[in-house]
Amino acid sequence: MNKLQEPDLDFIRHVKKAGGADLKKCYQCATCSVVCELSPEHKPFPRKEMIWASWGQKDRLIKDPDVWLCHQCNDCTAHCPRGARPGDVLAAVRSYVFNENSFPRFMGRALATPRALPILFLVPILVIGAIMLGFADFEAVDMSMGAAVDYNNFIRHGWIEGLFIAGNVLIFSFAAIGLKRFWKGLKETFPDHQGPGFISSAILATKEIITHENFNKCVTNKPRAYAHFLVLFGFLGSMATAGLALLWTVALGHHSPIDLPNLIKVLGTVSGLMLLVGLGIIFVRRFGDRDRIGANGYSDWLFLYILAVVGFTGLILQFLRMGGLAAAAYITYFIHLVFVFFLLWYAPYSKFAHMFYRTLAMIYARGINRKPKSIQQAA
Ligand code: SF4
Ligand code: SF4
Repeated sequence: MNKLQEPDLDFIRHVKKAGGADLKKCYQCATCSVVCELSPEHKPFPRKEMIWASWGQKDRLIKDPDVWLCHQCNDCTAHCPRGARPGDVLAAVRSYVFNENSFPRFMGRALATPRALPILFLVPILVIGAIMLGFADFEAVDMSMGAAVDYNNFIRHGWIEGLFIAGNVLIFSFAAIGLKRFWKGLKETFPDHQGPGFISSAILATKEIITHENFNKCVTNKPRAYAHFLVLFGFLGSMATAGLALLWTVALGHHSPIDLPNLIKVLGTVSGLMLLVGLGIIFVRRFGDRDRIGANGYSDWLFLYILAVVGFTGLILQFLRMGGLAAAAYITYFIHLVFVFFLLWYAPYSKFAHMFYRTLAMIYARGINRKPKSIQQAA
């Protein structure tokens, strides 16, 4: 006898609030699954996800890899005869998955609640403020116009690097707990493993991420693929620059990253510009054409703003230093570190985590030969 499935009303409320307000308009015509370029032939999405979401079948959706194969291009939303906005519903479900899998769980809730924002900011302000007050060489910090700027005198690089390395180890250990739960769930949804092994699937998924091969199949919201490409590689380039600066100072014993080789500085500048241009496209489109771009919940906006501040402050630091705007440079450096802390320490609980969840789902999909119908038909 089939077990009676109770609807999870909290889950429905979350989906509606996070962008899926028109979810209940769906009458299951399946137009969305037909027009979606990324949907496979067997058990296509997003029609089935629409009925599950409408019935509050949270447990099914949080284990569903298909939710993560969607790039919110909104081709389905543009063609839906009922205005049920399936692309937005899937995005809302994705945001729920971070909360559900987060460890500790209260952090997931905090990142999803605007009321928690002051406390979330207070933590990095206090931690970085304590490092500044405890170890700064204030006699060497001259804030007058035209003075030489050395960020290391203001906030010691060694402490900041130690803080971020320790934080990353801790936070990514917590993230691994959530990702392990997620992977287990994926295996329950599609247990048949007929495709390549994990390593081969990971290579295929990585290639797909680098080329944005599937993302580029989208039609309605195509510029999103370009913007996403710029943001992703701008961010990775910025992280690589930070890692090289760390090597430069800690491993190679240089006093400060100010005298980094020009090649690394160019990498940092180009990456920062890519990040900001990509974010600029996303902001302009989201403010300008909400119907085509789709709804965005609190988590989306929060992540975009944090990333924009990190990218902008990171980029202008070197110009403020070179321009001798000492006071502005030191203040901007403090703000930059607070936002970097926010971005990295809270990564497993924010929209940032979608990078890991999506990658895992893509690897799993490759492993079970779950591919877009256009690729299946061509094979
Ligand atoms: S979301 Fe729209 S297109 Fe998809 S099944 Fe429902 S009514 Fe049809
Ligand atoms: S938003 Fe795009 S990728 Fe996602 S289900 Fe709709 S058509 Fe498919």
